[in-house]
Amino acid sequence: MTAALDHRDLYRLPWTLPDNAIAWLEATMKCNLACEGCYRANVNQHKSLEQVGKDLDVFARYRNTDGISIAGGDPLTHPQIVDIVRMVAERGWKPILNTNGLALTEDLLRELKRAGLFGLTFHIDSKQHRPRWKNKTEQEHNALRLTYAEMVARVGGLTCSFNATIYQDTLDSVPDMVAWAQEHIDIVHVMVFICYREPAETSRFDYYVGGNKVDMAPLTYANTGQRIDISAHDVVAKIRERNPEFAPAAYLNGTEKPDSFKWLLSVRLGTRNRIYGYLGRKMVELAQVWNHLRTGRYLAYAPAAVSRHGKSLLLLWPFDRGLRRAFFRALLSPSLLFRRLYLQSIMIISPVEVLEDGRQNMCDGCPDMTVWDGQLAWSCRLEECIHFGQFTRTVPKGQVLSREASPELVALRNAQSATGRSA
Ligand code: SF4
Repeated sequence: MTAALDHRDLYRLPWTLPDNAIAWLEATMKCNLACEGCYRANVNQHKSLEQVGKDLDVFARYRNTDGISIAGGDPLTHPQIVDIVRMVAERGWKPILNTNGLALTEDLLRELKRAGLFGLTFHIDSKQHRPRWKNKTEQEHNALRLTYAEMVARVGGLTCSFNATIYQDTLDSVPDMVAWAQEHIDIVHVMVFICYREPAETSRFDYYVGGNKVDMAPLTYANTGQRIDISAHDVVAKIRERNPEFAPAAYLNGTEKPDSFKWLLSVRLGTRNRIYGYLGRKMVELAQVWNHLRTGRYLAYAPAAVSRHGKSLLLLWPFDRGLRRAFFRALLSPSLLFRRLYLQSIMIISPVEVLEDGRQNMCDGCPDMTVWDGQLAWSCRLEECIHFGQFTRTVPKGQVLSREASPELVALRNAQSATGRSA
């Protein structure tokens, strides 16, 4: 079952290539796990601080951004990770560590916080082959998630997010993960679900670089037999089986399909026991525009303390339909007078999909742009650059790649040159 969602009812996040909420720094290619859905080869190679500095220069040159996701590989395998966090913070960005958490200790976390760390996104799911967690269900992994959430809460002042790759056989576990996040809404700020994809669909497409067909076999985990078409609609439908009111408010569309949801954001207001409502599109728009007016940057990660101020937000109820519903429910709940109301985001991400005709539907305004050869590049497809020096083109099998433009494109170019615009 899929959920009926219309992008015209939601707010299109204002993130673009040069002005975005985040950028993606790959500090290392080394990892201490081997997740089934990882899109990067595990190579024992770290970037030097000088290389990291050059990547940051590229972000500073091309991208206005609020936060930098420090990823890899696993960034905690980098022996100078504290220095890297400090470098990012000193340049005025919020450093967010994207880690599996395996190498994290409370002492290290305190040191990272002193260096300026803003928050962490823990990648935890049941297909990571973690020592002592093999063959455990997604629900059983909630105990591991809680260990990290409590550690972050003890250190204090940091945002705490979790992401999980969603496979065909873990899709049914999503409502339990959403319920777990609600149980810990006071210390878990964001929950992210990433629909599983593969770097190559060689049964349907041939891959080309500069007119030459290339072999995608060396890229990681291609052709696993897993379902690769789970969409945000599927995940929303699954969540709504248990939470019928679940309401996304904002999205990023695909570069080829304006009505596809590549990033789909919901923000709920609640306590451990009850969800009072979801922010509507107007509130998300207000938050983005207000932050940009105030700081010159769009927002992805609000400070941890902000999540505790759900009640203050209710005062804006006249402006937003979603907030209105939460406001009136809160009014009818006297017990809320003595309790906090928390904010928690749920994001659903659908990475690259290849359309029937070979077009690649990427995230329009991709937040996870990293650096390749001095330029911004999609982090999810970096292996293509590493293997072939550039991104590949996809051509349906049996169709010969033509260097000539299609008649439609020639007609479009002619029309545009007649009006003085370039194609
Ligand atoms: S285009 Fe790729 S790297 Fe960018 S946000 Fe989408 S999935 Fe992530």
